[in-house]
Amino acid sequence: MTKSLSDCPACHGQIDEQHQCGRCGADLSYLHTLTHEMERLEAAATHAVAAKRFEVARTFLAEAAQYERTPYNVALAAWIPVLEAETAHEAAEAEAEQVQAEKPSRLDSVKQFFSRFTRGKDGS
Ligand SMILES: [Zn+2]
Repeated sequence: MTKSLSDCPACHGQIDEQHQCGRCGADLSYLHTLTHEMERLEAAATHAVAAKRFEVARTFLAEAAQYERTPYNVALAAWIPVLEAETAHEAAEAEAEQVQAEKPSRLDSVKQFFSRFTRGKDGS
C-alpha cells in the first residue's frame, strides 16, 4: 500500500484494516472504496495488457493513476510501449510466415536453387 491511500488525510496517522483512523478516529471507509476501485482498474489494465489491448490498458492505467500512482501502475504504463514494439515485431514475423505458407512455390524455388548449389559443390 502506498502513502496517499494508507495515511489518514486528517492527521496522517497510519490506517489499518479498520475503517477508522487509529489516531484521530476519522471515518475512512471511503478510502477503502477508492483503494478497491484503483485496484480494480489496475487489474483491468493487467488483463488488457495480457490480451494485447494496449490502448484499453492505457485508459485503465490513466484512471487508476488518478486515484493513486502506485509503483505497479507506473511500471505497467512504462512497460506498455516495450510490449507494443515486441507485438509489432511478432506480427511482422507472423505475416512473413503466412506469405511463405501461402506461396510454397516461392520457397520451393529457393530450395531448388540451394540444392543445385550444394550438388555442384559435392560434385555429385
Ligand atoms: Zn487520523
